[in-house]
Amino acid sequence: MWKRSLNASLSAALRRTVAPTGRAAVRVRSSSQRLRRPPSLSSDAGIAGSSLLGRRDSLRCSGRSCCSESASDDGSAPKCWNCGAVAGKSAGTAPFLACGSCRSVQPVDESVDYFQIFGLEKKYDIDVSNLEGKYKDWQKKLHPDLVHSKSEQEKEYAAGQSARVIDAYRTLSKPLTRAIYVLKLEGVNVDEEETVSEPELLTEILEIREAVDEAADSQALRQIQSQMEDKLRHWYNSFASSLHARKFEDAQTCVRRMKYYTRVNEEITKKL
Ligand SMILES: [Zn+2]
Repeated sequence: MWKRSLNASLSAALRRTVAPTGRAAVRVRSSSQRLRRPPSLSSDAGIAGSSLLGRRDSLRCSGRSCCSESASDDGSAPKCWNCGAVAGKSAGTAPFLACGSCRSVQPVDESVDYFQIFGLEKKYDIDVSNLEGKYKDWQKKLHPDLVHSKSEQEKEYAAGQSARVIDAYRTLSKPLTRAIYVLKLEGVNVDEEETVSEPELLTEILEIREAVDEAADSQALRQIQSQMEDKLRHWYNSFASSLHARKFEDAQTCVRRMKYYTRVNEEITKKL
């Protein structure tokens, strides 16, 4: 019984355009505040969640491809505090997190965004398979355990840079957190403690919750999870299209759905 109504609800949700007119509300909890301490080098940091989103709203993008600003664009290229090497020359095209000449870890530069940290074009559709290798490369240069013999100052830089690279990796490696971050760079904030007020989505949420609660076994749960993944793919694509067209309200609607279905999947994974 529930399968039929769930399926009907799922397919209806894929077709309709939803206007935020409802009054009823369901509180959606944020799942993004996570541990920020650097894990050991051997541990797997590829878990979901983003804690710190971009702190700069001034980066302007157009469509999928965005120009990038770096700290050196204003004529004051940062120099290594230790050997005086200039960023961009000694470090090639990599952002100046650690000096390319003397390898000293540099102070955190908030103007370097997460895409720049990984040498990526600022856009939603990125090749995630490249991220992990670059992330590990950075941790080999920045991890606080590797600078234990250095000054207290440099240890502090390493702790800050390492934590930021972890945030960058976690944020960009997941479609949902990456979407929120890309919007943030466009100056569009997504409320982490969002209230769902769209009647169709509310109805669907209740139906999916019921289906999850009543699922007889892990096979039934996996079936719901598979439906959520189909829906997520749909909303990732819708988000990319909305962003490309600079329709930020539509993009926010997509993010709301992505958040919800991602959370359902997380809840099901806990039950399995
Ligand atoms: Zn240097």
